Amino acid sequence: MSFAYALAGLLGLCLAWAVVRLVREARQRRALLAWLRDTASAELPDGDDAWREVFSAQRQLQKENRRDLAQLTMRLERFLKATQAIPDGVILLDADDRIEWHNRVAGEQLGIALEDDQGTLIVHLFRYPVFLSYLRRFRSGEATEDGLSLELGTPPRQFLVRLLPVANQGSLLLLRDVTDMVRTERMRVDFVANVSHELRTPVTVISGFLEQMTCDEPPQGEDAKRFLAMMSDQAGRMRRLIEDLLTLSRLEGESRLVSEDEIVMPTMIAELIEEADALSSGRHTVTCGEVEPVNLFGNPEELRSAFANLLSNAIRYTPEWGEITVRWQVHEGKPVFSVQDTGIGIASDHIPRLTERFYRVDRGRSSSSGGTGLGLAIVKHVLSRHGGCIKIDSTPGRGSTFSAMLPAERLRR
Ligand code: ADP
Repeated sequence: MSFAYALAGLLGLCLAWAVVRLVREARQRRALLAWLRDTASAELPDGDDAWREVFSAQRQLQKENRRDLAQLTMRLERFLKATQAIPDGVILLDADDRIEWHNRVAGEQLGIALEDDQGTLIVHLFRYPVFLSYLRRFRSGEATEDGLSLELGTPPRQFLVRLLPVANQGSLLLLRDVTDMVRTERMRVDFVANVSHELRTPVTVISGFLEQMTCDEPPQGEDAKRFLAMMSDQAGRMRRLIEDLLTLSRLEGESRLVSEDEIVMPTMIAELIEEADALSSGRHTVTCGEVEPVNLFGNPEELRSAFANLLSNAIRYTPEWGEITVRWQVHEGKPVFSVQDTGIGIASDHIPRLTERFYRVDRGRSSSSGGTGLGLAIVKHVLSRHGGCIKIDSTPGRGSTFSAMLPAERLRR
């Protein structure tokens, strides 16, 4: 009898243990399910028995996943930062040519914002037939490596546009602003053409005279003298041009001023006026206006040549009996060297271009007076190397004032 009670008791105990186990199993399974549904916020319990191993393996897995995710996020952030640092515009297009992402530069170049333009068809931004045909060629797999030259934005800028395939779907649109490169290239081509043109005239004249001098009946006496004088005139023109070209190339080649010194300006001005008088040969009145008893710190050779250039221009573009006045003043603490003339003057639309190489208002007048068309370009370079600039005030028919404006720190009292 007592054995039967003991057995029943044992069975009861086993049953109770089994129920407790089942309840605990169910609770741990529920905890696991809750955690699986929301791994970020739900807590994974420690677990016991067989569950302990499962939970600990899960916890390990979660830790590794979090580490991988953090690394991936970091790499993605670095990649995006690197893309933002690219000086070119980058636009990622999906397989339907819709904007998926773009970097900051592309946004600035095209005036677009990702929040507003994400999903926009790229052809809605580039409504140019040339771009549509370029896109078509790209889609059909034709060679498009050379890219496409497009003028975009206001004020218009020149862009090189290129499409690159991205892993079998979508594409990358690259936008490179080549405005400055195109301008520099155009300037280079223009410069070579101008130099060739400037040299061609004297060379043609000299070779024409030489032909006559070497023919069977060469000119004699006064004629020969006249021919030789004209040849020497043209040779002088070539020499001046080459000298000015060399000066310009030296100024452009040296980024820093090599030697600087204090220039005693009243003395330099007196010398410049004397030289101008000699150049004018009494045809003009060259006077000294206000000359402040202050000095200038800079490269004496460069500044002397720039100031002499302004004086020589005043003489060459002022008819006989005109007046030329040189001044050395201090305006608001800044030194200003100026040359005023009562010459032919310049129409206002020419003024902004006068310092361009070979720009002349009247080519014939410049050449006949011995001009190379490079004088003011040299003056501008010299002044900018000294932190200054040139200011031109002029009225056609009444005269001009060319002022070399220099920074206050170059003034020596
Ligand atoms: P150039 O050798 O032709 O004189 P510059 O560069 O010195 O070349 O000057 C450029 C142009 O500016 C000249 O061709 C001339 O048309 C104009 N210019 C310069 N100085 C004067 C001036 N004082 N009065 C009128 N025009 C001037």
